[in-house]
Amino acid sequence: MKYNMSIKEKLTLYVGVLVALIVGLVALSVISLQILTATEPTSPVADYGLSRALALLLTFGTLSVIVGIWILIWLPDSINRPFKELSEGINEIANHNYDTELHLQGSVAMEQLSLNFNRMSHCLRDYYNSSLSKLRVSKQYIETIIDSIDEPMICIDQELTFYFINNEALDILNLKRDEVLGKSAQEIAMHNDLLRRLLNGNNEQKEYGDAAEKKTESLKIYADNKESYFQVKYLPVKMADADGNITERGTVVMLKNITEFHKLDVAKTTLISTISHELKTPISAILMSQQLLTDNRVGVLNAEQKELSDSIKKNGERLLSITSELLNMTQVESGALQLKPHITKPIKLIEYAIKANQVQADKFNINIEVDYPKEKISKLYIDSEKIAWVLTNLLNNAIRYSSENGRVIIGAQQNDKHQVILYVQDFGRGIDPRYHESIFERYFRVPGIKVQGSGLGLSISRDFVEAHNGTLTVESELGKGSKFIVALPA
Ligand code: ADP
Repeated sequence: MKYNMSIKEKLTLYVGVLVALIVGLVALSVISLQILTATEPTSPVADYGLSRALALLLTFGTLSVIVGIWILIWLPDSINRPFKELSEGINEIANHNYDTELHLQGSVAMEQLSLNFNRMSHCLRDYYNSSLSKLRVSKQYIETIIDSIDEPMICIDQELTFYFINNEALDILNLKRDEVLGKSAQEIAMHNDLLRRLLNGNNEQKEYGDAAEKKTESLKIYADNKESYFQVKYLPVKMADADGNITERGTVVMLKNITEFHKLDVAKTTLISTISHELKTPISAILMSQQLLTDNRVGVLNAEQKELSDSIKKNGERLLSITSELLNMTQVESGALQLKPHITKPIKLIEYAIKANQVQADKFNINIEVDYPKEKISKLYIDSEKIAWVLTNLLNNAIRYSSENGRVIIGAQQNDKHQVILYVQDFGRGIDPRYHESIFERYFRVPGIKVQGSGLGLSISRDFVEAHNGTLTVESELGKGSKFIVALPA
């Protein structure tokens, strides 16, 4: 049976051997000295005794030195070895190598330490395997749920590596699962147009936030010989790190199939377009007949008949303006909006808008002021009909939403950004800041306002201005009035 000494036993043994050797050495030296002093130094007896004593001294001395050096080298190593093995074992555990076992020898304490260490590593291995399998099961569970969602879904991490992708997404991207998982989305996007568009959309979302999302049009995809439309949503994945700080770890890209809604929307646009078009002719005929009535060609109208005729005119004109707004809207929505640009002086647009609104302004005794710079202002390369329509509509709103005897300013300015600014300002009721964006949405009307309207004018105006690469914005304060600003590239 192999006997393993403890550190204490080792130390006692080695120090004992060393002390014995040194004592032997000292004893021999004393004997040699006694021989020398007891006998005649030159006598053959002394010579013989001395030589023997010296030989023994030399042997013992050499032995002591060898044993001393051996102890010097071997002893620290023998003491350190268990600690080194223990430290290596701990290192392996830290690296999740839970199969590591220690077999330290040397003492009961060391054996006990190994036993406890091995028990700990077995426990850790069992725990790791069970939590790993639990994790695997829950990952599989989540993947199955994601796969069963019939809308395409992709998750990429911060380095744009695919984290997960469901079958629907693989289908529309025309990719295979093993081609993508764990791979760089950017690399795959180099050969995949649709993925490239989705990644660009993600970048825009990061750069411009919700504004980008509002601007994104539906995504048109050709697959299996049919057109499909998707609405894309980018959801940032935010998680807490070890210090509790919330950081962004990736993005989930969700595509919602809106093909059916798109078909319905197209049908609605076509219907509105057809009806508005068909209504224009009879409304014009009504207005023409009313004109003939007021001309007195078919007889003089009495006061009551005149009032009725005026009402026909007012409502006929309102119908005509609604049908024209609806027609404009259908043009934008069906993508049929075609600009016929030519060089136009900004003052011409202002004059047109004033002329179109003068009767209305006079009716409410509203003074229209023109703010036009004395110095030269750039001409615009625009579809003047469309931009004149926008200014007319803004001026009409300014008059309608002002109180009687009010004041409205219509003006133009050249700004440094190579832009021409056209603006319409009123000092009427103003708009609550909550509605500053909503008023540009289709059919939106500020709640509680009694003035009649369709809620289409501003949304069409913005579409027309944006089609010219310009912007239409509002500055307004409740009770103080509003300023609508059109900025167009000069
Ligand atoms: P409409 O005027 O036909 O309702 P618009 O799209 O032109 O439709 O305007 C949308 C809404 O914005 C209006 O219903 C109104 O509440 C508000 N609005 C527009 N212009 C003004 C203005 N100059 N002053 C106050 N409110 C306005």
